[in-house]
Amino acid sequence: MARRKKIYEGKAKIMYEGPEPGTMVQYFKDDATAFNAEKKAVIEGKGVLNNRLSEFFMTGLTQIGVPNHFIKRLNMREQLIRSVEIIPLEVIVRNFAAGSMCKRLGMSEGTPMPRPIVEFCYKDDALGDPLVSEEHIIAFGWASQQDLDDMISLALRVNDFMSGVMLAVGIKLVDFKIEIGRIWENDFHRLIVADEISPDSCRLWDIETGQKLDKDVFRRDLGNLTDAYTEVARRLGVLPTNVTHAPKPTLIN
Ligand code: UDP
Repeated sequence: MARRKKIYEGKAKIMYEGPEPGTMVQYFKDDATAFNAEKKAVIEGKGVLNNRLSEFFMTGLTQIGVPNHFIKRLNMREQLIRSVEIIPLEVIVRNFAAGSMCKRLGMSEGTPMPRPIVEFCYKDDALGDPLVSEEHIIAFGWASQQDLDDMISLALRVNDFMSGVMLAVGIKLVDFKIEIGRIWENDFHRLIVADEISPDSCRLWDIETGQKLDKDVFRRDLGNLTDAYTEVARRLGVLPTNVTHAPKPTLIN
C-alpha cells in the first residue's frame, strides 16, 4: 500500500502529510513510554483505543465550542487533523495532587487542590520537560502574554468538560496534559487544542475503588494497560468493534 509522506515520528504517534494543505494524518502507535522514555513497551491495542478516545474527547470539545485540531477519524489508527504550529509547552491541569506535584511539594497522592492548578513544562526530552514559569515563557518568546491567557482559558475549559464527562461514568479526573498549537489565518493566529487527549495524558481514578485507569498502570506495573483503557472506552460507550489487528479473535468486554 502506498504510504503517505512521514513528517514526524514521536513516542506514541506518527504524523503524515494530509490530503490537503493545512491537514495532517495522525497515526496512533501501540508504543508506550514512561520516565522520559527510559521504560518502553508495545501494548497491543493501545493505539486503536487512544485514536477512538481522542476522537471522542475532541468531538465533544468541538460541540461545546472549544477549538481543536480534530477533523475526522479515518480508520482504526488514523485521524485527519489540522496542522498547527505546536507551542513548545506541555499545559498541565491538576485537580488532585499526583505524580511530579507530590514529589516536588511533598503532598500525598489524591490531595484535592483548592482550585484547578495550571502548570507549564517546556517540551524538551533532553532536559526532561522542566517546569517553567510564565516569566520564562514570555522572556524566551515561547508564547506571548495574550497566548498565555488563551492557553489558560483553553486548559480550564478542557478541564471542566473532561471532569464532567468522566464524573458521569464514575471516574475522577486527577490531572491531564494538553498541547496547544497556533493556526494562522492571514496575518492573525489563534490557538487550538492539538496533539491528543487520552488515558496516556490524563490521570483517571475510579471514584468508588480508586483503581487507576491510565498510564500509571504501565508506569507502576499495576496490571494490563489495554484492559484499563478498554474500561474507560467501555464506560464512555466508545469501544471499537475490533480493538487490534491481531490475527486471533480478541474478546473486548
Ligand atoms: N503528562 C503527559 N506527558 C508528559 C508529562 C506528563 O501526558 O510528558 C501527563 C501525565 O500523564 C499526568 C499529567 O500530565 O496526567 C501530570 O504529570 P506529572 O507532571 O505528574 O508528571 P509524571 O508523574 O507523569 O512524571
